[in-house]
Amino acid sequence: MKGSKAIGIDLGTTNSCVAVAIDNRVQVIPTESGSNTMPSLVSFDDEERLVGDGAKYQMNSNFSNTIYNIKRLMGYKSKRQKSQVDIKSLFYKIIETEEEVRVQVKYKGEVKSYTPEEISSMILGKLKARAETYLGVEVNDAVITVPAYFNTAQRQATRNAGMIAGLNVLKVISEPTAAAIGFGCEKDFKEETNVFVFDFGGGTFDASILLVQEGDFTVLATGGDSTLGGEDIDNLLVEHCCELFEAETGFDLSNNTRALRRLKSVCEKAKCALSHASKTKLDIQSLFDDKDLFISLTRSTFDEICQGLFKKTIAISQSVLKDAGMKAEDINEILLVGGSTRIPKVQAMIQKLFRKIPNGSINPDEAVAIGAAKQAASYKDPNNQNQVHLYDVLPLSIGTGIEGGKTFRHIAKNTPIPTKATTLFKTRTDDQERLCFKVYEGERAFCKDNTLLGSFTIDGLPPAKRGKAGADVTTEIDESGIIKINAVATNGLTGGVTIINNSNFGLSINEVTRMQEEAQKFEEEDQLTKQRVDSMLGLEDYAYELRDLAESGNLSKSSCNTLMTFFKSTIDWLKDNQSASKEIYTMLKQTLEEKVSRLS
Ligand code: AMP
Repeated sequence: MKGSKAIGIDLGTTNSCVAVAIDNRVQVIPTESGSNTMPSLVSFDDEERLVGDGAKYQMNSNFSNTIYNIKRLMGYKSKRQKSQVDIKSLFYKIIETEEEVRVQVKYKGEVKSYTPEEISSMILGKLKARAETYLGVEVNDAVITVPAYFNTAQRQATRNAGMIAGLNVLKVISEPTAAAIGFGCEKDFKEETNVFVFDFGGGTFDASILLVQEGDFTVLATGGDSTLGGEDIDNLLVEHCCELFEAETGFDLSNNTRALRRLKSVCEKAKCALSHASKTKLDIQSLFDDKDLFISLTRSTFDEICQGLFKKTIAISQSVLKDAGMKAEDINEILLVGGSTRIPKVQAMIQKLFRKIPNGSINPDEAVAIGAAKQAASYKDPNNQNQVHLYDVLPLSIGTGIEGGKTFRHIAKNTPIPTKATTLFKTRTDDQERLCFKVYEGERAFCKDNTLLGSFTIDGLPPAKRGKAGADVTTEIDESGIIKINAVATNGLTGGVTIINNSNFGLSINEVTRMQEEAQKFEEEDQLTKQRVDSMLGLEDYAYELRDLAESGNLSKSSCNTLMTFFKSTIDWLKDNQSASKEIYTMLKQTLEEKVSRLS
C-alpha cells in the first residue's frame, strides 16, 4: 500500500462530501452510486445498518429507524442546554436526560440507542472507507468542516465523531473558510480580495467575510444561525400544506407521523422544483383517511411563505458586514455555498444587498470539501509549495460570570485568533477568601443564556477590604480555538481551566475506546451482511446462467427442462428466503453446480 492520504470532509446536515488533494489537484470522491455527495443518513433494520445512499432508498418505508439531521443534535448534551432543533419535527425517537441526548432505533430486533457523535461517526466512517476504496490507500488523517457559528461543544462533538470513526482529525475548520479556500483553487487571488461567503445549507446558515490573497485566508468576521436551513423551509411548506389540507378535509395531520413524513418529502421536491419553474404541484394520494392532497404552488406564494426566513439570512449578512467594519460595496466576490442558495429569491436578495452578481464558478455542494482537502494536504505536507495559511476569528465571545448573573466579556466574537487578554477581578466583599470563575461562551448579557464551558476556583485569599484583593485573569485562545483561562491572585495563588478534550465536552479515553470498538463491530457486521448478500446474489446469478444455458439451444431437450426446473425452483426459493445465512446460499449453489455437472 502506498503512503496514506489526508482527506477533507464536509459533514453536512443533509449531504456530506469527501475530497482529496493529489499533487495540488483536488478530486471529489464519488459515492458507490456515482454521486459527488452522500446523504447524511443512517438507517437500521432487522438485518443491517445502512449509511448514505442505501439509507436514503429505504427512508420512506423505515422512517422511524432512519436518522437524519444528526448534525443539528451535535454538541447538544442534555435537556439543560438550549435545543438547536425542534425535536418534535424529527421522525425518530430521541431520549433526553439530564446527562445526555441519544437517538433510539430498532436494530436486529433489539432497541438500541446512540449519541449524536456515534451516528455522525458512522457517516464519517463510510466516507473514510469510500475514500480508501477509491484511492487504494489507507486514510487516517482528515480535516472536517463545521459551520462557522458552531460553538465549542458542537466543534468538540465533531472531533469526537471523527475519533470514533478512527480518523486523526488534523483540524476542524469553518465551512465558509473552507469554501473560500476551495474557490481559491479555481481562481488565483493575486490582489487582496474581500470575499463574502453566503453558506445556506440543509440545516445551518453561515455568513463570513475573508480577506484573501494568494495562499493567505484571513477571516475578518463571521456569523450565522445553526438552526436555519433548507430543513426549516421544508417545515414551513409542510405547515402551509397541513393548513390547506385541514381547511379542505377537516383532518388535522399534525400528529400523524407517517402522513407528515410523506408530505415533507414531497414539499422538499416542490421547493427544489420551484428553483427552476414558476409553479409546481404537490400531489399525494390517500394522504390521510383516503383523502388525497393536491396543491398547486407558485414561486411567489413560496417566496411569501419563506419570506421571514430569507430575511433572517440577509439580516445576519448585514451584521457580519458591520462586524468587519465594511459596507456591501467593499465586497469583491460573493460565494454561494449550500443547496439552499439555489433558491432564486435568495439569490435575488443577495444581489440586491451587494449590487453584484454572486460568483457561480464553483459547485455549491462541493466547494467546502474541496477547500477542506486542500487544507488537509497542506497540514499533512508542510513542505508543499502551495501552502494554505488560515487566520481565523473567534466565532463566539468568551466571558466569565460576575455579580447579578451577568457575563463579563473577556474576548469578543470575531477577534482574530490567536489572542490573549488580561483583566483584574477584585473581591466583592470584605475578607473574601474565595474567587469562583465560571467560563461562558455566547453573546447574551446573562450567563444563563450562554453556554457554560468550564469553571475553576481560587481558595485562600488573605483577609482584605473589599476590592483590595483579587486576581488577574488571562484568557488565551490559540489558532485551533483552544481556550486557556488562568488566574493569578494577589497573594500568588493560581488557578485555571483549559477548554479542549477532556473538558465538559470531551470524551474520556474509555468512552472513545468503547465507541471505537462498537464502530469496529458495526464494520464487521456490515462486512458479514455484505458477504451474505453477495452469496445470495451469487446463487441468483447462477440460476439465471442456467436459464440462459437452457435457452441457448445447445443442449438436449431433457437437459434444458432440468435446467429450467433448477432455475424456477431456485428463484422461487429465493423469493421466500431473503434472510438465509451466507453458508446456506453457498451450499445451495455448490449443490446446484454438482447437479448440473452430472447432466449429460
Ligand atoms: P447542503 O446542506 O448544502 O447539502 O444543502 C441541502 C439543502 O439544499 C436541502 O435542504 C435541499 O433541499 C436544498 N436544496 C438542494 N437543491 C435545491 C434547489 N434546487 N432548490 C432549493 N433548495 C435546494
